[in-house]
Amino acid sequence: MKVLNDWFLKHKRDLPWRKKRDPYATWIAEVMLQQTGVLVVIPYFERWMKALPDIHSLAAAPKETVLKLWEGLGYYSRARNLLKGAIYIVENFQGNIPSDRDLLQTIPGIGPYTSAAIATFSFGQKIAAVDANVARFISRFLALEDKSLFEQEATKLLPDKDPWIVAEAMIEMGATICRKKPDCLACPVQKSCLAFLQNRQYELPLPTKRAATTYLEKTVIIICFKDHFLLKNPEEKGVMADLWEFPTDIAYPECIRHNLPIQKHSFTRYSVTLTPYLIFPENINFLEQRGFSWYSIEQMKNLTFSAGHKRILNELENYLKNRLSQGIL
Ligand code: SF4
Repeated sequence: MKVLNDWFLKHKRDLPWRKKRDPYATWIAEVMLQQTGVLVVIPYFERWMKALPDIHSLAAAPKETVLKLWEGLGYYSRARNLLKGAIYIVENFQGNIPSDRDLLQTIPGIGPYTSAAIATFSFGQKIAAVDANVARFISRFLALEDKSLFEQEATKLLPDKDPWIVAEAMIEMGATICRKKPDCLACPVQKSCLAFLQNRQYELPLPTKRAATTYLEKTVIIICFKDHFLLKNPEEKGVMADLWEFPTDIAYPECIRHNLPIQKHSFTRYSVTLTPYLIFPENINFLEQRGFSWYSIEQMKNLTFSAGHKRILNELENYLKNRLSQGIL
């Protein structure tokens, strides 16, 4: 795999987490990169490393700070697990991330992929970290259909000396050349790629069955009373844990209703359409306020919102600013 080694050293993208092979930086970057593209991750990663530069600062950080740094990346359980993981590392490993892959997998939130990535990229071990990019590349390069063999066969391709270079080269290949639509003409390993030789590059990897998407439609009611807005208190568990949202689908009295732009967003297997209305009721007698809290616009800026409701909050701010500038409010 010398050809991949050399290709990577020449063509690798300059990414901030590649500057030094620090296990903490690798861990944060790899968790951010799950489900999220490189370009989106870069500013989040830089902001995070500035605010929480090491395990100890993360372990000591309030959950609200961690979630705020994550706001917009989605799949917030990843951020909550990073915090849990850092506390676990401080309590069980004196704040040092272990190099052993089995020990790494005892840390909350660190599974087979992240443990392999830390072990190889930061500790130089000979283990292939198989993410979606490597799975696609290895399946095609070796014309492999059986997913359970990907890690084992990818690891066999790593050299004894500096195995991390080829391990990372495989990720880079999947991300930049052997993409869903492969650029075989630009590929450095085209001559030895079995899928290319067998003309199966569009057939591999074999598709996996996805859970059917569930479509949801919600009416979001933004209630403004005495310059404060009603928010639903966050749930403690589940995919929306610790995230703030405006109330949805609640009954409200006859009053003037202002439409804000409809927002669509997707998470896990859900595709949600949010239709927001802003209302200014004369009183709030109609409200059952248990489980809700009032916040001003300024206070809401410090809370972490779910993705769709964050966009609604931005639209609300713009709307109020415009109305103020027109002297309507
Ligand atoms: S030749 Fe094509 S299919 Fe094979 S590894 Fe290269 S880009 Fe992927």
